[in-house]
Amino acid sequence: MQNLEKYSVELEGIDIRFNEPLSQYTYTKVGGAADFLVFPRNRYELARIVKLANRENIPWLVLGNSSNIIVRDGGIRGFVIMFDKLNNVTVDGYTIEAEAGANLTQTTRIALHHSLTGFEFACGIPGSVGGAVFMNAGAYGGEIGHVLVSCKVLTPEGEIKNLDARDMRFGYRHSLIQETGDIVISAKFGLAPGVHQNIHQEMERLTYLRELKQPLEYPSCGSVFKRPLGHFAGQLISEAGLKGYRIGGVEVSEKHAGFMINVDHGTASDYEKLIAHVIKTVKEHSGVTLEREVRIIGEA
Ligand SMILES: Cc1cc2nc3c(=O)[nH]c(=O)nc-3n(C[C@H](O)[C@H](O)[C@H](O)COP(=O)(O)OP(=O)(O)OC[C@H]3O[C@@H](n4cnc5c(N)ncnc54)[C@H](O)[C@@H]3O)c2cc1C
Repeated sequence: MQNLEKYSVELEGIDIRFNEPLSQYTYTKVGGAADFLVFPRNRYELARIVKLANRENIPWLVLGNSSNIIVRDGGIRGFVIMFDKLNNVTVDGYTIEAEAGANLTQTTRIALHHSLTGFEFACGIPGSVGGAVFMNAGAYGGEIGHVLVSCKVLTPEGEIKNLDARDMRFGYRHSLIQETGDIVISAKFGLAPGVHQNIHQEMERLTYLRELKQPLEYPSCGSVFKRPLGHFAGQLISEAGLKGYRIGGVEVSEKHAGFMINVDHGTASDYEKLIAHVIKTVKEHSGVTLEREVRIIGEA
């Protein structure tokens, strides 16, 4: 681990935690420590961290709510940047502007509060706004690309840019940000006026469906695999006889075979082994190659 003492003036005022275990932040409850976990309060602090890291060749990466990643047990070298303190949400007419660290579910509740429709689909996705834009998160027929108007990013070179949604190359769980390495700072969503009671009912309905079908009572990273063309990952895994299959403390959920749940102090290594086993077994059984949706980062 590098010593940051010599940069204390440059990093003054920024909330930095050293050798911080990431398992307490990740949805899977696995993952080693980050050398330096930082919580910028605004885009200027963020820019200072990225500038310093680039100049000194210290690796850095950003995390949102860590609901779509597995951090390996060896942890992450350099800076891990989290946006918990950049979470302001404002409403102007039919537009909601949310900072990257805003909770997506809470943002949909703010839309409800203002009787704005279009965001109901996202009401149970446990990501941050930044992570949701990066992933083009979606559910029940909706996706971020349908409601995004524009977003503000910090480029890896330290420049702030405004990106129009039409230029975001949204696809299934894909956005331009995955190609450029930009950091999403904030996003603007365009919604429509609706009827409060109808929006509320739809959100309740989708929440009910989620609770019915997903093992939300356990740590997980949501659907581990992307939906293969013409198939459902959960169904293929189930047909391969893998429901309940366990390696270490991680198990293929009985309730939804597309989820892998941490049932007993599982590790990232358990997750990786189970993912590899499921891919191999499903390929042998159905000929379909499953592709991971969840991202695996850090050192083994
Ligand atoms: C129980 C459960 C249910 C889920 N249901 C759904 C669902 O219905 N639909 C769906 O699409 N997903 C679902 N997910 C997955 C996950 O919630 C989404 O992919 C979400 O968008 C990830 O956001 P995050 O903030 O947690 O991102 P993280 O997991 O923290 O990060 C994911 C990726 O985004 C990048 N990233 C994060 N923030 C930023 C930023 N500000 N700028 C640039 N890059 C950034 C990270 O570097 C990383 O590569 C579910 C997960 C769980 C655990």
